[in-house]
Amino acid sequence: MRSCDVLIVGGGPAGSSAAWKLKAAGVDVLVLDRERFPRVKLCAGWVTPEVVQELQIDLATYPHRLLTFPRLRMQFGRVRVPVRCVQHSIRRFEFDAWLLQRSGAPVEQHNVRHINPAAGGGYLIDDEYHCRYLIGAGGTRCPVYRELFRDLNPRASERQIVTLEHEIEYDWRDADCHLWFFENGLPGYSWYVPKEHGWLNVGVGALAERMKRRGQDIRAHWAHLATKLNGTLAPGARYEPTGYSYYLRGRVEVVRRDDAFITGDAAGLATRDLGEGIGPAVRSGLRAAQTILDGTPYRLGDASGLSVGSIARSMLARRARAARPAARPTGTNGGVAAHGLRDRDQ
Ligand SMILES: Cc1cc2nc3c(=O)[nH]c(=O)nc-3n(C[C@H](O)[C@H](O)[C@H](O)COP(=O)(O)OP(=O)(O)OC[C@H]3O[C@@H](n4cnc5c(N)ncnc54)[C@H](O)[C@@H]3O)c2cc1C
Repeated sequence: MRSCDVLIVGGGPAGSSAAWKLKAAGVDVLVLDRERFPRVKLCAGWVTPEVVQELQIDLATYPHRLLTFPRLRMQFGRVRVPVRCVQHSIRRFEFDAWLLQRSGAPVEQHNVRHINPAAGGGYLIDDEYHCRYLIGAGGTRCPVYRELFRDLNPRASERQIVTLEHEIEYDWRDADCHLWFFENGLPGYSWYVPKEHGWLNVGVGALAERMKRRGQDIRAHWAHLATKLNGTLAPGARYEPTGYSYYLRGRVEVVRRDDAFITGDAAGLATRDLGEGIGPAVRSGLRAAQTILDGTPYRLGDASGLSVGSIARSMLARRARAARPAARPTGTNGGVAAHGLRDRDQ
């Protein structure tokens, strides 16, 4: 039986962030992941400046592909909204493996199936591992969520997003990030996210239940996107999209049960409308670690993060300030500074 103080199930951004903080404090921590890293993770790989800051990543020395895209181009029907921004794209294949290695925590490849309270305290995992604290960072299908939290914290089906995406090597010409909302009645958006040195991620994501109610199939939306890109931004690109689903944040009732925690997608924390999940995963991982270190209550904080709402609010606030230069700043439009987004119509 392998014993440790803290066992983390899942080595994605939530798990590696928790491991990084705990390991830095000298805690005996072990990460289990069913995959060997580097592993493929379906994700557009859009990373906000807050994530970079919270994880103390030095962009100049980050050893893999990282693109800071100069502009975000959103389109709502015929309305185009270009936004100057400081946002980044990475390849999850590289980013996750680098974060996990940087954490310094030992990692074992193990597919976690069963979790039980141990007789003398703590948790038994598959009768092979024992730990005092357990962090569930296993993504949407996290076994810690399934075994210890699902009954207390059922996931709301109306918050489930389904996606289809493909990341390909492609010599793109347009370094802007493009998002198309609600095209052909899609209850979501599709994207074009360029990566450094000729990689490109394209995809479609939408609320599963609404699509079902409208009798829609995400594959039809994918076909529409591929045709559009072929005629515009990515001629000749060939795709083999893969699907995945995760949950937007709703009311998250219980995220700690005794000495077990759930973080990131295991708790269903992605931001509403843009589905940013890396930031909430990192933040919840760091907070779970902090709770273990000093007893700070494990709270997820508000549901802030990257969203169309935060972008729109920051643009409106900026315009209002420009129209009334003498007005006293409200200091409440955290989205502008927090997300590094600056609007500029062009
Ligand atoms: C198509 C798509 C595009 C997205 N684009 C973005 C984006 O651009 N920006 C953004 O911020 N968010 C995006 N997201 C959301 C983001 O990918 C997730 O929110 C984020 O990865 C959550 O991190 P996590 O650490 O909680 O889980 P994950 O990254 O899913 O990591 C979970 C880990 O747990 C492991 N695991 C699972 N089950 C077990 C088990 N039984 N035993 C052991 N290990 C296990 C897995 O192998 C995995 O390594 C996107 C999601 C999708 C599907």
